[in-house]
Amino acid sequence: MVLFAHPDDAEFMCGGSAARWTREGCEVHYVVLTDGSAGSNEPGDSREAMRPVREREQRAAADVLGVASVTFLGELDGLLAVSPETRRKVCREVRRLRPEVIVAPDPSRIWHGDGYINHSDHKAAGELALTAIMPDAPTRVMFQELEGEGLEPYEVPNLYLSVSEPDVFIDIGDTIETKLKALACHASQLSIEEVEPWIRERAKLVAEMSGEQMTYAEGFKAFRFVDDPIEE
Ligand SMILES: [Zn+2]
Repeated sequence: MVLFAHPDDAEFMCGGSAARWTREGCEVHYVVLTDGSAGSNEPGDSREAMRPVREREQRAAADVLGVASVTFLGELDGLLAVSPETRRKVCREVRRLRPEVIVAPDPSRIWHGDGYINHSDHKAAGELALTAIMPDAPTRVMFQELEGEGLEPYEVPNLYLSVSEPDVFIDIGDTIETKLKALACHASQLSIEEVEPWIRERAKLVAEMSGEQMTYAEGFKAFRFVDDPIEE
């Protein structure tokens, strides 16, 4: 289960890994927290106009990667908050999908270098992943009303956070082209010609960080919460 704030975040964060996992037979499910409705700064554009565009682009990108399902939780882009309501929504998806792994952004990332402030929605998305893992999804009395929907508590075994200094590396040498193809679906947000060079550069850098024989990689900080690890 990939949990993220905006249509296109997942492709940046883990598009190559998602493509590889689906190729290898894993089911990958996307849960998109916001509606992407703040994705245009053009005078005259509205949230109402953007919403369907973002959803269409996200579904197209997911299709390219072989993602099994895309669920939109419909929060307002730019105003994502960690609240009892959003926690309940995420908890519902976790208990429904019962994922082996949640992939999510790093909630502790406030800025990077001296030229980048992380979007507050990204931090909230990361925090919502953490609150789902502990305490919401496994604790029966948290959102007990979900039992009425047939959703039993669930302990998430693994978390992959997308961090700047990863400790787990996924070789995306065979899937970086697919990642780029998926990113290109977000035409309202980016020009693939502009984005491609730094996507390759970042993936190359992460591959070097791995110390292994990889051309391109995506990296995560991996948490394992169970004693009985899933098969590699
Ligand atoms: Zn974003």
